[in-house]
Amino acid sequence: MKPDLFEAPDYYNLDELLTEEHKLVRDAAREWVKRDVSPIIEEYAQKAEFPKQIVQGLADIGAFGPYIPEEYGGAGLDQIAYGLIMQEIERGDSGVRSTASVQSSLVMYPIWKYGNEVQRQKYLPKLASGEWIGSFGLTEPDHGSNPGGMVTNFKDMGDHYLLNGAKMWISNAPFCNIAVVWAKNEEGRIHGLVVERGMVGFTTPETHNKWSLRASATGELIFDNVKVPKENLLPNKSGLGAPLGCLDSARFGIAWGAIGAAMDCYDTALRYSKERLQFGKPIGQFQLQQKKLAEMITEITKAQLLAWRLGVMRENGTATSAQISMAKRNNVDMALKIARDARQMLGGMGISGEYSIMRHMMNLESVVTYEGTHDIHLLITGLDVTGLNAFK
Ligand SMILES: Cc1cc2nc3c(=O)[nH]c(=O)nc-3n(C[C@H](O)[C@H](O)[C@H](O)COP(=O)(O)OP(=O)(O)OC[C@H]3O[C@@H](n4cnc5c(N)ncnc54)[C@H](O)[C@@H]3O)c2cc1C
Repeated sequence: MKPDLFEAPDYYNLDELLTEEHKLVRDAAREWVKRDVSPIIEEYAQKAEFPKQIVQGLADIGAFGPYIPEEYGGAGLDQIAYGLIMQEIERGDSGVRSTASVQSSLVMYPIWKYGNEVQRQKYLPKLASGEWIGSFGLTEPDHGSNPGGMVTNFKDMGDHYLLNGAKMWISNAPFCNIAVVWAKNEEGRIHGLVVERGMVGFTTPETHNKWSLRASATGELIFDNVKVPKENLLPNKSGLGAPLGCLDSARFGIAWGAIGAAMDCYDTALRYSKERLQFGKPIGQFQLQQKKLAEMITEITKAQLLAWRLGVMRENGTATSAQISMAKRNNVDMALKIARDARQMLGGMGISGEYSIMRHMMNLESVVTYEGTHDIHLLITGLDVTGLNAFK
């Protein structure tokens, strides 16, 4: 793979909106990606393997629980710092960002928000340091966009719960130490349970043959009469709103992360357009190529403003789920379109692993689907503006 020459575009001087701490955190993540991710990521994506050696680095840059309080091992940062870290990691690879997102927003967040103090003390420091990796089990074979229909369930056996069912498409599953699993009790109410590797009847087979997020490990979570101790139920929130609250946090991170992938594609195509000569001049001198680049930087700038404003609202507690949906949908779609255009600008070289663009493009096909598909987020916006529910 080519050396990582990335230079971040900042067309509207958005750095002026950031604090010194934001810039320090972002720059540390950027340097780490250049040093420890870029040189190895293509090889790991090609062989469809998660590079476990980067887990410690992710912990060191604060990517595991950026906004979780320091007393639990988190970095104690604000929402914009969290977004910037996700942006930088996804600039390297969406699969690596997925691992960090799941750990932070889908595992640490519910334990912090819905768990009790004993659970926080038991799990959060180990997750923040990367000693343990977590996964989040919501999607089932027959229930993806409609998770409320889930059939995974648990029964109260007196001194423990008995968990049965299966989850699929679960990031980090093959090597997770714990899984936050959403299941229905005997009354049909959804609760979160922490299932630990080693519990009898709990298995995590890996999902193979992916053309997307190849450097992220995906698998199933299978529960065959798993005895879960009662103290592993997250006591402070139940119902579908509990997992959806986690998704709000993860979708916010994705809205930022997608900008990173788009920036990398734009930056690569811009550099290539000045170096590649055809018909005796750099291809960047042709109007058709300039149109692509001009539209890319315009869309990136709009997405950056959307993410920054959402970060401010999320920090002051006013961002709605529908506003988060809009940013996730817009920014991932923006990144996917830029990846496709950037790939064309590199001609044949665009399909080569020498450059990051095709990997980003294929990764983004998962990002546009997980955490609520492109269609589902549109329907959430539609519901929000009309008050009419297209899901019923
Ligand atoms: C690589 C990867 C990693 C993932 N990681 C996780 C994870 O860690 N944890 C987890 O729980 N899940 C995870 N997922 C699952 C992901 O969230 C689901 O794939 C996603 O929610 C869509 O569900 P589905 O695949 O069952 O598609 P479906 O729900 O079957 O949707 C199929 C199509 O129908 C459309 N559709 C569905 N309902 C409607 C409707 N009402 N109106 C209009 N169109 C509709 C959808 O937009 C989509 O285009 C992951 C997925 C992938 C690919």
